[in-house]
Amino acid sequence: MGLYDRFYDEDSKCPKCNAKIKTEWQTEQFECLLESWKKGDFVQYHKWELIPEKERKKLYGDMKLGPSSRRTNQYLSDAPLLLNGKVPVRISCKKCKSSLEAYAKVVAGKFMGIIEIEADGEEKEFVIFRPETTAKSLRKEFANRLSHLQESCEHENTKWMNIE
Ligand SMILES: [Zn+2]
Repeated sequence: MGLYDRFYDEDSKCPKCNAKIKTEWQTEQFECLLESWKKGDFVQYHKWELIPEKERKKLYGDMKLGPSSRRTNQYLSDAPLLLNGKVPVRISCKKCKSSLEAYAKVVAGKFMGIIEIEADGEEKEFVIFRPETTAKSLRKEFANRLSHLQESCEHENTKWMNIE
């Protein structure tokens, strides 16, 4: 049994028997640190911290095998594991036992949902969306901002001239 990272999409369904998939989709694409992402989550690992001894005692008493670290709200990096692309995921349907292959869609570093679900299909390949798409939208946004700047400059100019 291996370790996985997981994606959860409450709306995903088995294409064969139409059962809702209530378990988490598994992927081995990244570091397999048992991270779990829901829709809208930033696709990056959380930092872990050691639980201070005092708190640990309060939580778990003298339990020797109690956890010694916990997940924090901070991420390991400001950059997502993947900016735009599709991460191969799989699970087996609890109802009809089909093995399901699908993609976790990532847009702008956020998990958007499970797509392209196939029963008994081939294992899917990792897809990174072409960076040009991103560059193009960035340029567009920049051009937008520039034009706003120019507008506000012109505005200042008019005011200045009025004062004179
Ligand atoms: Zn099924």
